[in-house]
Amino acid sequence: MKIGIDIGGSHIGIGLLNENGKIIKKYEIDINNKENNIAEFIEKYIIEIIKKIQIDYSIDLIGIACAGTPKDGKITSIVNLKLEELDITSIIKKAYNGQIIVRNDAKCAGLAEKTYGSLKKYNDCVFLCLGTGIGGSVFIENKQLQPIRYPAFEIGHMIIDKNGELCNCGKRGCFETYCSIKRLKNKLIQELGLNEEILAKDLLEILNTKKEEEKLQKIIKEYINNLIIGLSNIIDIFEPEAISLGGSFVYFENILYKQLLKEYTERRYAFNKEELPELKLATLGNDAGIIGAVLGTGPIACF
Ligand SMILES: [Zn+2]
Repeated sequence: MKIGIDIGGSHIGIGLLNENGKIIKKYEIDINNKENNIAEFIEKYIIEIIKKIQIDYSIDLIGIACAGTPKDGKITSIVNLKLEELDITSIIKKAYNGQIIVRNDAKCAGLAEKTYGSLKKYNDCVFLCLGTGIGGSVFIENKQLQPIRYPAFEIGHMIIDKNGELCNCGKRGCFETYCSIKRLKNKLIQELGLNEEILAKDLLEILNTKKEEEKLQKIIKEYINNLIIGLSNIIDIFEPEAISLGGSFVYFENILYKQLLKEYTERRYAFNKEELPELKLATLGNDAGIIGAVLGTGPIACF
């Protein structure tokens, strides 16, 4: 049995997986960003669950999928949790002494979608994780591109507006400052005068009932336009056969994905107007990080 741990910008998911990569048990908790010591909060929860699982199961691998840049078993620059470094391997070793692998969350989720989900049949493809931020994972000839020297393939931090909003990474106008679901949610709360603590399911219900309202349509249209700019850059650089959109974006299928497909086929931005990549919706949902955390242990995962 294996344990996959997904540490996102606002949530921790831990799954017990069998040999076929199927999640048998799942534990989840939200990370409160107002928490004084986020690192301590993460450590306490992870250790508690690992100990609990090991009472009944023997574990031969723990994989960690975390926002940020993995280096020597640690994770650095977790900008959305405002953590410079998290020594996740040392934390896990307090409760477990087997094999541990640490990788970027979007790369793990992409690997899961490529192995079991929406990107299974494509050789050249891109996975985008639209959630608290935007993460990316690129596959060329069935190989996942891995950064060697610097954090790379950070699609969320490509600039789409040079005078744009300040991003958590310190640059201005990054793709994720316009198209992460967190930014969209904040904008909706602000413009529609909603309660800041609104739950995602309540927000969705409001969006579904108010979708004809002009104010809402304007926000969605602007979001989709920015998303298409980002997609068009990805298409022109990587020429993928398909792009899959995952993260909490999948919950907004009716509002965002359907509208995106409509606009996308108008082919306003892509360089090659004859043949555009397929746009897919991720099929593993928020479990992709957990599933991908225990997949492909080499520097370049091959299929
Ligand atoms: Zn950025």
